[in-house]
Amino acid sequence: MIIYTDRYLVHDLPTHPENAQRLKAIMAFLEKDGFLDKVRVVEPLAAGEEEILKVHTRGHLARVREVSAAGGMLDPDTYTTPQSYEVALLAVGGVLRGIREGGNSFALVRPPGHHAEGDRAMGFCLFNNVAIGAMYALEEMGIKRVFILDYDVHHGNGTQRAFYSDPRVLYASLHQAPLYPGTGRMEEVGAGEGEGFNINVPLPPGTGDKSYLRALEEVVIPMAAQFKPELILCSAGYDGHHRDPLGGLLLTAEAYRRISELLLTLRAPVVMALEGGYSLEALPLAVEAAMGPLFGIEVPRGKEGAVEESPGATRVVEERIETLRRILAPYWGKG
Ligand SMILES: [Zn+2]
Repeated sequence: MIIYTDRYLVHDLPTHPENAQRLKAIMAFLEKDGFLDKVRVVEPLAAGEEEILKVHTRGHLARVREVSAAGGMLDPDTYTTPQSYEVALLAVGGVLRGIREGGNSFALVRPPGHHAEGDRAMGFCLFNNVAIGAMYALEEMGIKRVFILDYDVHHGNGTQRAFYSDPRVLYASLHQAPLYPGTGRMEEVGAGEGEGFNINVPLPPGTGDKSYLRALEEVVIPMAAQFKPELILCSAGYDGHHRDPLGGLLLTAEAYRRISELLLTLRAPVVMALEGGYSLEALPLAVEAAMGPLFGIEVPRGKEGAVEESPGATRVVEERIETLRRILAPYWGKG
């Protein structure tokens, strides 16, 4: 099931990389490819205040509403329009709809969420769609363990922060470093009861499918399997694609297809939520590739050629995998 509404397009600033053309390009591509004939597309319901308050403060909620009413900036990167508050509630609601339905789904939402912290908007994000979804599943649905995989090229500082001391959520992020927002070091493993339940895999620019998938297959997925999640949420950002103008990783659409397959091996419903991804050519290909396994739809491969990663990156990632295993061994054994 895909969750989508045209209302997601009215939060827009054409000169900004996070603009409405992103979703338009995805939907046009899925339509033209016949993909939309094979999967149900449903509309989201707007989230309520009580749902936003599971992760955010009242002050943050009020600020987003007020700044949006004036169409102002929430931070130097994060614009609003007079419709943005309503659209942001629909973005959260899109993820909630996917979670409530119980099967695999992809919430094609805007604005994105993983940088938004409890008390502030950041990095194009107003409310933390995925973090709110996880809290909702834990508190309202009786789900005990949620695995969040964040494969956006940027570290999901907001999501990490929301669950840093919470052992009910295993948060794992693969991200380029150095890059905005600067958090996401390997040593950030969680705190208190949540110690060991936060996995960061910082990757050098030039990392391609080979090393990226290796880190997932050798570290993240085995640990997630031990965690035995009842629900999997994915912060699905596609700015790690080699054609993305904001990121320096060299992933192809094939990597995203493979990640979906790996998530399915964990045998829990997978709810993906769109985060970043700013190449209008690459984004639709990558989204379709990720959706294929989720919905059991064959997506023809080879729409783009192989991309070689930089040899330097291969070596660095090998070392990182070893370091990360050592850091996480007290909690997960050898993975
Ligand atoms: Zn991003």
